Amino acid sequence: MTDVDVIIVGAGPTGLMLAAELRLAGVRPLVLERRPERGKTPKAHGLSGQILDLLHYRGLLDRVRALVTDPVPADRFPFGGVHVDLTRFEEPPLKALSVRQQLLEGLLEEHATGLGAELRRGHEVVGVSQDDESVTAEVRGPDGTYEVTAQYLVGCDGGRSPVRSMAGIGFPGTTYPEVNRIGQVSIPDRLTVHDNGDIETPELGRIKAGFTRTGTGVFALGSLTPGILFIQTTEDDPGEIDDDVPMTLTELGDSIRRVLGGDVPLGDPVRLSRYQFSARQAERYREGRILLAGDAAHLLPSTGTAINVGMSDSVNLAWKLAAEIQGRAPAGLLDTYHAERHAAGARALLQSRAQVALRRGHDEAAEALRAVFQELLDDEQAARRLASHVAGTDTRYPMPGSTHALAGTFVPDLALETDQGATSVAELLRDARPVLLDLADRPELREPAEGLVDVRTAKAEDRPADVLLIRPDGYIAWAGDGDTEGLREALAAWFGA
Ligand SMILES: Cc1cc2nc3c(=O)[nH]c(=O)nc-3n(C[C@H](O)[C@H](O)[C@H](O)COP(=O)(O)OP(=O)(O)OC[C@H]3O[C@@H](n4cnc5c(N)ncnc54)[C@H](O)[C@@H]3O)c2cc1C
Repeated sequence: MTDVDVIIVGAGPTGLMLAAELRLAGVRPLVLERRPERGKTPKAHGLSGQILDLLHYRGLLDRVRALVTDPVPADRFPFGGVHVDLTRFEEPPLKALSVRQQLLEGLLEEHATGLGAELRRGHEVVGVSQDDESVTAEVRGPDGTYEVTAQYLVGCDGGRSPVRSMAGIGFPGTTYPEVNRIGQVSIPDRLTVHDNGDIETPELGRIKAGFTRTGTGVFALGSLTPGILFIQTTEDDPGEIDDDVPMTLTELGDSIRRVLGGDVPLGDPVRLSRYQFSARQAERYREGRILLAGDAAHLLPSTGTAINVGMSDSVNLAWKLAAEIQGRAPAGLLDTYHAERHAAGARALLQSRAQVALRRGHDEAAEALRAVFQELLDDEQAARRLASHVAGTDTRYPMPGSTHALAGTFVPDLALETDQGATSVAELLRDARPVLLDLADRPELREPAEGLVDVRTAKAEDRPADVLLIRPDGYIAWAGDGDTEGLREALAAWFGA
């Protein structure tokens, strides 16, 4: 008998989401976080991609929306120095919300602890060991060092992940020798902002909105919020940065001077941060009873998408871990976590590294590449495809027993009519339980699922298939109109029929 079911190391977005999902699945997680309080250094300012749909399916999206302090960004996003315009799409293929990471973490913490997860702040994991039966964490807490045992331990402990090192898992890839500094500042009197977003400065004259490349780096200028300038500099710098050292306005001003060769007047800072880009992925996401998720498993060299990938890891992992712990997992279920999420992480790295290639070139050939890429993105199909790649909505997992086009894809939020009234797929997935959704009253297809997953009968306009078997993470495990054998195979593979 272990102290808890799962130890989660790290209370960032990944660890907190995992804790909540594990509680929904009925297991006992303990979250250990080395920081005594939530981190104050500004990190993410935006949340984008598929995780927004997942948050909607868990009934959390409206709560996240309530945290948005800036207007929702326009439907365009930067892809390695090229702007992708999504305004022509009625339903944007990449959704984004401008939410500060600290506020998001506060909400996730409230959600996870509200569901009964235990969180200990100021408790650092300094050692990890495992055997066939359990895993033990050595923890340095405010009252000294102690041990906790669990059936599994998940390292959600960020890019420098001590858990990953202690488990002996390699983290190959590249750290780019450059530092990015971001400032969101009010507009001082000495600065004029033109209608098209260009600025006029006393010393440097007119500076265009968008990217200005010089021999010493890149200066980026824009505005997400009226009255606030968004400024970013990128400079080559082989040193390592320390996330715990706060950025200052002087540091940003010095960097701008090095890049542009003169001063840009800066108003009061709303946000200052700096970051370095790495492209790395853990060799494996599982070593026995130790697993990795979030930044501990992958670092992406582009902005705006890392939390999406990390929190999606958690949603994928939680129900599989719970099934293992509750003794109802079919053989190999937990290994599908690595198979599915390592592939999804590699795909996220693919688009993210492509952004580096587009962004880092400063010569004429690189300018030409960006221009050609920009031209290609005038094509609606190309823009949609790229946006889905960045959002992670094009992820398709292999699903045994089904050849249907929908198998392995994320279930759409269908409006449903049932005997009890109107509902939706999102409502059905609120408690993170697997569902067999019968849209054509097919008792012979409901029968094999009884007792294994929730079985619901409903009607939907333009039903995509007679029956959908939906996993707790929202992915369609089986879709079809007949073939009971295929359905039985899918049920056996995922839910241990
Ligand atoms: C300036 C900046 C801007 C960013 N902007 C965006 C953005 O706009 N959108 C986006 O999606 N992403 C963005 N990111 C990336 C995003 O912040 C990370 O992807 C995200 O924080 C990863 O979440 P995580 O929970 O996996 O890890 P982390 O948030 O790093 O959390 C790991 C936690 O583990 C704790 N920990 C570490 N070691 C131990 C230990 N031994 N014992 C106990 N606890 C431990 C740490 O204290 C930390 O709280 C940005 C990052 C930076 C730095």
